[in-house]
Amino acid sequence: MDTRHRGALRVGLTGGIASGKTTVARLFGALGAPVIDADEISREVTAPGTPLIVRIAERFGVEFIGADGSLDRRALRRVAFADPRARADLEALTHPAILQAMEQRAAEAGGPYQVLVIPLLVEKHRTGLIDRILVVDCEEALQIRRLQARDGSTLEEARAILAAQASRAERLQAADDVIPNSGDLQALRGEVERHHLRYLELAAQAPP
Ligand code: ATP
Repeated sequence: MDTRHRGALRVGLTGGIASGKTTVARLFGALGAPVIDADEISREVTAPGTPLIVRIAERFGVEFIGADGSLDRRALRRVAFADPRARADLEALTHPAILQAMEQRAAEAGGPYQVLVIPLLVEKHRTGLIDRILVVDCEEALQIRRLQARDGSTLEEARAILAAQASRAERLQAADDVIPNSGDLQALRGEVERHHLRYLELAAQAPP
């Protein structure tokens, strides 16, 4: 569904952990599409010296701030993963700032269409920011293999992360478009090119 009400068509790119979001985003970027990445923005708004890092320290403790003033993301993630209340508090602190920064970045980025990489798009229903949901899809067994190869995660760790995310079926149900990523990089590039042309076409059909 295209509910576009701004300049560029905004494509929300999502998918489970290690499904290939970053790889797909890079391929879209190489074709000239502006890419705005929620994880990158999350790191920017919680960089040393930001008002947000101070508020995180107030809520969670100064032990989550290193000697160089940077956030210990790994430790914070561990706490948030184990305690739903802590996770809700962390999200309440960070999400508004991330959304605001993404909105601003998107407004400045231009292009006929833009790719907004939002890992938890399906879980958080952030559809106000975007016009279409594009899901990178692969079997869970392959996600686990990529996760193990890339991060050295154990099978148990990889399974626990997957279990905490939306399921493959939930994601596919929410998708307007799907890029399968069970093949090689050449096949993936072909899929991205096909979607690139489709988005250019959609953008031309509904000019601002
Ligand atoms: P995360 O959720 O952790 O941010 P992601 O969804 O962005 O991950 P990527 O980092 O793009 O996923 O991919 C996960 C790993 O799998 C990377 O090491 C990447 O190089 C590899 N990979 C992704 N797609 C393919 C493919 N089609 N063929 C081979 N390797 C791939």
